[in-house]
Amino acid sequence: MPQIGWYNGMIGNPAEMTVPMLDRAVYFGDGCYEACLAVGTNAFHLDAHIDRFRRSLNALSIPFSYGSDALKDVLYSCLAAANEPSAVLYWQVSRATAPRTHAFPKDAEPNLLVTVTPKTPLPRERTVKLITAEDVRYAMCDVKTLNLIPNILANQRAASAGADEAVFVRDGIVTEGSHTNVHILKNGTLLTHPADNRILAGVTRAVLLELAGESGIPAAERAFTEDELKCADEVLITSSTLGVRRAESIDGIATGGKAEALYRTLAQAYERIFDRETRA
Ligand code: PLP
Repeated sequence: MPQIGWYNGMIGNPAEMTVPMLDRAVYFGDGCYEACLAVGTNAFHLDAHIDRFRRSLNALSIPFSYGSDALKDVLYSCLAAANEPSAVLYWQVSRATAPRTHAFPKDAEPNLLVTVTPKTPLPRERTVKLITAEDVRYAMCDVKTLNLIPNILANQRAASAGADEAVFVRDGIVTEGSHTNVHILKNGTLLTHPADNRILAGVTRAVLLELAGESGIPAAERAFTEDELKCADEVLITSSTLGVRRAESIDGIATGGKAEALYRTLAQAYERIFDRETRA
């Protein structure tokens, strides 16, 4: 089967499965989600994704009753049913199925939805083109909620410009990408926005920071400006589906290429641990 969908215990083709109209994900986006890359049934850093998922659930006060083992059982069964060499494992929980009122419904059960979508990874050497976009998002970017309108609008602007990703800038400070974290290498140091409420603390970002430490590359979690982005030795973006990528241009102007060896050290270290962990 090319793709698997799972919703509250039902499994099938997600293009044919339906969700109740009163699922609060439908009209409020009232829920949170996770996405990670899997090779066969091996999902990279699944525990880190589940930990972040729990933080999102807590931030939204969603009483999701599955323990981590029960959740993993569902996720692994979906991966096994999909049987894909490489796939994006996505899951979301919405607060409830209930008539539309803003306040939380009483005694309603959260809904779990899972999809497994085949994904051919981009070649590892593939660089990315970026555009900048004003960060008009709210102050809960650390919670991985379903509410992604500014992200999809910014990413569509990137796509329309022939680019891969939009980099959000708020008051002159680079926060993150529409679906990635953004980092720079400057004078041998890796800089990345602090993990506060203005960015999602990416699982890949955390791995990158660890790898920088292990590789003897100094790293600092400090905000940097749009000017620093544009004058960086290298600009990197990270996400579970893209891994660690180097930018070749920002707003149509060539960027980076001045610290390729450092970039390669980090990207290859990431590929090594990804391959080691997802090997069958
Ligand atoms: N920032 C945003 C807004 C994202 O949506 C994502 C991934 O979806 C990331 C950063 C990267 O997070 P991760 O490395 O956990 O995939």
